[in-house]
Amino acid sequence: MNTSQQLRTALLNINHKSYPAYKSVAGSYRFDTYVLGIDHVQGDPFASPSKVHLAVDGKTAGFPGHLFDTTPKRIALQDYLTRRLGRELHRVSGKAGGSGKSGLIFISQCGQEILERSCCEIDPADGSLLFRLEIGFPANGRTINSPELIKILFDFLPVCVTKSLLCKNLPMAELLAVEALCEDQQFIRRELKRLSLSAFVANGAILPRMSGVSQLPMKNAVAFESPKSMEVTLNLPHHGPLTGMGIQNGITLIVGGGFHGKSTLLNALEMGVYDHIAGDGREYVITDDTAFKLRAEDSRYISNTDISLFIRNLPGKKDTVSFSTQDASGSTSQAANVIESMESGSSLFLIDEDTSATNFMIRDQLMQSVISDKEEPITPFISRVRALYEKSGISSIIVAGSSGAYFHVADKVIQMKDYVPYDITERAKEAAKDFPSLHTEGLTYQVPAFNRCPIASGNLKDNDRMKMKVLGKDSIQINRTTVDLRYLEQLSDTEQLSALAYLLTYSAKHYFRKGRTLTQVVDLLEQQLEAKGLASLADSSYLPSNLARPRRQEIFACFDRCRDLVFQ
Ligand code: ADP
Ligand code: MG
Repeated sequence: MNTSQQLRTALLNINHKSYPAYKSVAGSYRFDTYVLGIDHVQGDPFASPSKVHLAVDGKTAGFPGHLFDTTPKRIALQDYLTRRLGRELHRVSGKAGGSGKSGLIFISQCGQEILERSCCEIDPADGSLLFRLEIGFPANGRTINSPELIKILFDFLPVCVTKSLLCKNLPMAELLAVEALCEDQQFIRRELKRLSLSAFVANGAILPRMSGVSQLPMKNAVAFESPKSMEVTLNLPHHGPLTGMGIQNGITLIVGGGFHGKSTLLNALEMGVYDHIAGDGREYVITDDTAFKLRAEDSRYISNTDISLFIRNLPGKKDTVSFSTQDASGSTSQAANVIESMESGSSLFLIDEDTSATNFMIRDQLMQSVISDKEEPITPFISRVRALYEKSGISSIIVAGSSGAYFHVADKVIQMKDYVPYDITERAKEAAKDFPSLHTEGLTYQVPAFNRCPIASGNLKDNDRMKMKVLGKDSIQINRTTVDLRYLEQLSDTEQLSALAYLLTYSAKHYFRKGRTLTQVVDLLEQQLEAKGLASLADSSYLPSNLARPRRQEIFACFDRCRDLVFQ
């Protein structure tokens, strides 16, 4: 290993040379409290910035073992340190300058959710830290300006590391609070299972967000307050007793007038599959972490999905046991979304009528009497929702402001009124008695076999050179194929999309095989992520610093939407 002094000398020697001379400083250098690795040097000042890592050994970092002795706690601590280091780096980013990206320092921008990221790894064995970041190596035009890089590497970084990555310099109370919140959140997740709950929403939670473009909590919002009849009190290890609304497994309706907070509640439940940071307002909104938001998704790609549970006898005798299309309709897309999320192991569906295909959700009495069942290819969700729960153990939480027919099949009916939930189950059931329920007798319920095997084609087949691009939270691109992910509303971070791009190309290279099912492929991926982390997805010499781990559900959903995967 080289000394930092050797790096300084090498950098001074290449000052004023042409940019590629920076490549000569790739390597590892010992600084006082850490090792700096220069893993990949950018080709020019306008290219994507150079990849470096910082490694702090466990003894120097000094974090007590109990702060990271479970996976969730380790991830929570990583998240905290990433935010901390990010704040320090932000202050100095751009302070050293030059052309193009000279002097810019990038690290993961964490949002409200706590995610596992390739940017920071704590080794559970010894508490050592590894951070991956990107630095624009400074130049004037294409002429190296190494004194500016020396400023970054020798003045800025050591101070940032000392301030944010050494336990002795961090407020212990904050570290303990991160640990406590994490343990409480995991406790609630375990309680959901023990008490047969699909979700828990604490009294006092702040559900609405600041705006359509900000995930920060809304100021002066009406705090959540459970209906008395649905209250449960959980005895959290740190917080102590916490009361809130427990949504029992089964079928739950959320009804109420427009603008009364129905979708806001459902959105909070959607994101409750992740843990949230303190101050978010949704720290104690915890949902079954396999929950999947089901919606209509016109024009999505579907390959060999068995949607016959919902759709049969399409015009032209189109097969629905093995249904494929390049351009799905609202109802076929939503049917495929149900089936594919069953395949991914979801045990809770979240549905908002605002984003559903009406003919998929319901067929009213009058329509049934005019268009006979034989002429209608769709068995609406309402006719399947009970069997999904009773036979497959999948609960549903449905926002249904306009279809009272769901009263018949619901176990619980919650009315949102001025952002406050009321339990109106009895009243709704009573009223429903006077209306005939939709007949579902004689319907057979058969769950598909889920043995589809993905086969790579087109852009995914050209194994060696797969260029990946992430377009915000909308889509990923592999060479020239675009995978549209904008309707996967539970993706919370563009870094999850980056990871999905890696997971897809990695699978194309290593895991897609004839006869291997999608479930088996995703199992292999998840085992790899457990054992070797996100960074193991890279085949290149340096590991990407900007990946966040997506859930199993989104991995399935991403692969299902890739037009260069054909399922057999
Ligand atoms: P619905 O789905 O019932 O039509 P929304 O959930 O979309 O209603 O909420 C309507 C508006 O009310 C949104 O702008 C939302 O931000 C706001 N809102 C939701 N819940 C609250 C709350 N608890 N306090 C204050 N405003 C809220
Ligand atoms: Mg709504």
